[in-house]
Amino acid sequence: MTGAPPLAIQLANTTYAVRGVVQDGLRTTADLIAWFERVSALLPVESTPLGDEDLAAARELRDAVRAVARALEDGEPAAPADVDAINRAARGGPHWTELRTADPLRAERRRESRGVRDALAEVAENAIALFTGQTAGRVRLCGRPGCVLLFVKDHPRREWCSNKCGNKVRAARHYQRAKEG
Ligand SMILES: [Zn+2]
Repeated sequence: MTGAPPLAIQLANTTYAVRGVVQDGLRTTADLIAWFERVSALLPVESTPLGDEDLAAARELRDAVRAVARALEDGEPAAPADVDAINRAARGGPHWTELRTADPLRAERRRESRGVRDALAEVAENAIALFTGQTAGRVRLCGRPGCVLLFVKDHPRREWCSNKCGNKVRAARHYQRAKEG
């Protein structure tokens, strides 16, 4: 695994499970502020006051990303309502791409403002890129029973959101084999 997961995956994974019980990591505006702090290296946001509508927008985007990922995992088409929710978030403010001098040259997305809605727009664009670009079909749900996290399958044999989940599954299989043998 290299680096932090993409923004859309990080937002989706604010829904997680503890011992098989699904938890909501975005219940309050304080939760959303904390999330923006966690991803600040990828997504700088101006410290704007953050309201209940921003929280609702973030939750709507998160749930839509999860729903689309789940539909694809099940081999079903994405629901139009979820696609609309992602597109609504993606509109945000005016944005463009700039070329940055580096070796190799790199593209940088720019926005007129760095408010919360613009930040969510960037997350939505990231989701769109993940669902359609080189990673199309590789946004997956963790294969460990009880885990609800998403990950990008960056290796053909990767089945789990994290090494932690992979190790738990391997340990359980080992235990099962030992019990049977
Ligand atoms: Zn997992």
